[in-house]
Amino acid sequence: MITLQGKGVFGGIAIGKISFFTREERKIKRIRIEDTKNEIERYTAAKDAAGEELGKIYEKALQEVGESNAQIFEIHRMMLEDQDYNDSVANIITTQEVNAEYAVAITSDNFSQMFASIDDDYMKERAADVKDISNRVLKHLTGNDGEQKEKAGKFIICADDLAPSETVQLDKSAVLAFVTKAGSANSHTAILARTMNIPAIIGVGEGLLSSYEGRMAVVDGFDGKIYIDPEEELLAMMERRQQEEEEKRRLLLELKGKENVTKDGQKIKVYANIGGVDDVAAAFVNDAGGIGLFRSEFLYLKQENYPDEELQFAAYKKVLESMSGKDVVIRTLDIGADKQIDYFQLAHEENPAMGFRAIRICLERKAVFKTQLRALFRASVYGKLCIMFPMITAVEEVQEVKQIVEEVKQELKTEGIPYREQTEIGVMIETPAAVMISDLLAKEVDFFSIGTNDLTQYTLAIDRQNPQIDRFYRPHHQAILRMIHMVAENAHKEGKWVGICGELGADLSLTEKFLAMGIDELSVSPPMILPLREKIRSLTVAEKRDALLNEIL
Ligand code: PEP
Ligand code: MG
Repeated sequence: MITLQGKGVFGGIAIGKISFFTREERKIKRIRIEDTKNEIERYTAAKDAAGEELGKIYEKALQEVGESNAQIFEIHRMMLEDQDYNDSVANIITTQEVNAEYAVAITSDNFSQMFASIDDDYMKERAADVKDISNRVLKHLTGNDGEQKEKAGKFIICADDLAPSETVQLDKSAVLAFVTKAGSANSHTAILARTMNIPAIIGVGEGLLSSYEGRMAVVDGFDGKIYIDPEEELLAMMERRQQEEEEKRRLLLELKGKENVTKDGQKIKVYANIGGVDDVAAAFVNDAGGIGLFRSEFLYLKQENYPDEELQFAAYKKVLESMSGKDVVIRTLDIGADKQIDYFQLAHEENPAMGFRAIRICLERKAVFKTQLRALFRASVYGKLCIMFPMITAVEEVQEVKQIVEEVKQELKTEGIPYREQTEIGVMIETPAAVMISDLLAKEVDFFSIGTNDLTQYTLAIDRQNPQIDRFYRPHHQAILRMIHMVAENAHKEGKWVGICGELGADLSLTEKFLAMGIDELSVSPPMILPLREKIRSLTVAEKRDALLNEIL
């Protein structure tokens, strides 16, 4: 049994086989070959194996998705037998005396470019098919069959690291747990793992070898450990713990529909943090009172190009409709720092966390911002939308944002497109500057939501992405708690509501203090909703309020 220690970012036990996350990109080298006849035979064997594989995929697809959808695999099989394609590969191997991989890659490029240049939609689509079949042959030639999506069953996904965009694109139903060599507990990937209710461990280091592929393992997200080839005794103990956890969840489900009220009658809203339309189900299952943070940037991260107004409108409308009149706080685009998107072509920065990100990008690239605002306001008639702006540091920024909001509303009005006039406008309080001017910001907006992840980063001067300094990331720091208190006071003086949507909102050891401060809403990852509600219902706060507040002053 091999034991590796990392940092657990979402508790839970997972038992299953390891599958390494591989990026589809393959680097093909041009290698000189003397025995070209043997190389052509290698190619033919790989092509036949690819054809056989396509046959199996076709049969499976036929059962699962019906004949018309399965057809594409039959077409791919026929394309593999195309005379021109095969002649091209053989010709490159023979005339240039090169390896089969290189010949397939060149043929793939040439043929797909040729198809792409034809002015016919059907033919253009064939370009992607050529690439697809070539990749399948390459997979058999290189022996690298790491295409995650085609593996049946559920796996413990292991990786060097996972970018947020890669995490959102994983087929969640096939993931038992995440384990990464690198990563930080406060990264977006870790946050996503929590949102997805998946046990996750980060930072296990180089001991996580790719040769463990396919081996049985146990992930203990509570202790941050992964056991490879677990001993029988440990396996039995973990299975028991897994059952206990499930039992606990069942118990918590009994809370569904009950009010979030302390024993002495103080009420608080408990909402869900989500990353996309798919997460609404988790919010539902956990009986969220609303959506307190929809990180809209994940919509952009999933795309290869700017999501247009229609695509965004459809997503926002769906979430609003699904939440049937409950609050839905959608945060506008918050990219930059660890959330990089190629098509935005952001310049390299020495210090991206303090660089061109979030609202700064939106104010500079007004067309992108207005497209999102149009989609949001159009969707506003389908539910109770609250729009929230990230990374605010100045009153002037909020005024500029409000000016653009007015322009968008005016345009919609002129075009006769309906929107909900009462749509609330709020800002995230996640910079020390925003805290210090929260009295002024409260006059400008309808609500605040405190982003403790960035607030901690900027206040304690600690890069949330850097695993080396995780131990100095002190979210319970007096400075942070005082700031939250100050923001709550300033919001309430202006009659505005204040929530917490950073990870600290789910910290049950602080729930009592947040209630003492009068926080109106806590927005947490869906699996934390029920434990938090259980905690709230177990507390008596009023009699201890002064003592609780004195602890932080
Ligand atoms: C935060 O900073 O606390 C927050 C909720 O935003 P994000 O984690 O997406 O930066
Ligand atoms: Mg933030």
